[in-house]
Amino acid sequence: MSVLSRLDPAVARIIESERGRQVDSLEMIASENYASAAVLEATGSVFTNKYAEGYPGKRYYAGNQFSDELETLAIDRAKELFGVDHANVQPTSGAEANMAVYQAFVNPGDTIMGMELSQGGHLTHGSPVNYSGRLYNFVPYTVDRESEVIDMEQVRRLAMENRPRIIVAGATAYPRAIDFAAFGEIARESGALLMVDMSHIAGLVAGGAHATPAGHADVITTTTHKTLRGPRGALALCKAEHADALDRGVFPGTQGGPHLHSIAAKAVAFAEALKPEFKTYARQIVANAAALSAELQAGGLRLVSGGTDNHLLLLDCNSVGISGLKAQNALQGAGIITNRNTIPYDQRSAYVTSGLRMGTPALTSRGMKEDEMRRVGKWIVRVLKDPDGDGVREAVRAEVAEFARAYPVPGITDAE
Ligand SMILES: *Cc1c(COP(=O)(O)O)cnc(C)c1O
Repeated sequence: MSVLSRLDPAVARIIESERGRQVDSLEMIASENYASAAVLEATGSVFTNKYAEGYPGKRYYAGNQFSDELETLAIDRAKELFGVDHANVQPTSGAEANMAVYQAFVNPGDTIMGMELSQGGHLTHGSPVNYSGRLYNFVPYTVDRESEVIDMEQVRRLAMENRPRIIVAGATAYPRAIDFAAFGEIARESGALLMVDMSHIAGLVAGGAHATPAGHADVITTTTHKTLRGPRGALALCKAEHADALDRGVFPGTQGGPHLHSIAAKAVAFAEALKPEFKTYARQIVANAAALSAELQAGGLRLVSGGTDNHLLLLDCNSVGISGLKAQNALQGAGIITNRNTIPYDQRSAYVTSGLRMGTPALTSRGMKEDEMRRVGKWIVRVLKDPDGDGVREAVRAEVAEFARAYPVPGITDAE
């Protein structure tokens, strides 16, 4: 019996239930993944107890000799992994990393360009309900109506017209490769800094399965818990010339004490991503998304932009005559976990939506390959074509649970 189950059975029981849910269902939320046992162990370590405001060698508290050693190791690994001059490993989440960059490089009221949120951008790229949209003058760029791919001509025109201080490239629900070189050119032409928020694709970049923004971007932000398979947290990278400004933007600009336990786990995750196996993993994520995409299209579902180049797909649920909300709920009933999402030029509200976002990173972490994706794709088509059929949902749920249990879950049923 664990200490927790003895001392706090209520919390222990809930954690145990969540563990069971993660094993029995097919986790297809594009932003989720399974961290390794080593990452989980570091996250639960005694560094939880330590305050270390400042940076290695320049702390505001005593007792930081091991914090310094840890943070320096994490920084060195991050720089090696992404081939950049400077890394700040302190951002506690993607939202804070982005806030730190804005804080470092622009003033309230300044103009920033970011991807239209209803077409795949992130809340922190200028949503009116987020600090970013309230503090800064965001000008959104969009995808082309026909191709549903980012309209780079429009990005260039808007940049020259608006002369933003920063152009943000990066998305949460965009299935196509992003041309960082083209964004870099436009940023230089228009006098803007290029900030790439690679939160979703950082693992693909680390594994060489998506072109890197390094060399094109002035600043790069990313979460560490998505395709990168680390702890919940984030990372900010930049060219040497921006290092001091970026560090000040994080601390004292937007954060207090760093989460050293997360930094320990980030260091572990960076080392895992530096291994040759991670390249194989990243490539498999993309191959799996392509196989799933082909199976869904063969089943009559329309995918936004006609397919995928990365780890995620965006289904247009209008192609089966239902909303994203209905699709998400029907699949959840069958043990397949996804999230509804607006599609470009969506006619439904952001709550109901016409789209469904799904990704392959977590299933790939369980060792699934193209054959498994085709089976999963067939289940998805069956459920979405008969979303009200209790019989279909029940049958698929039973098959899914049996199937899922056959694949070890890193950090849960697999010791590594
Ligand atoms: C996930 C994500 C974020 C936010 O990360 P949190 O850790 O949830 O704050 C920011 N930007 C993009 C592009 C993301 O995908």
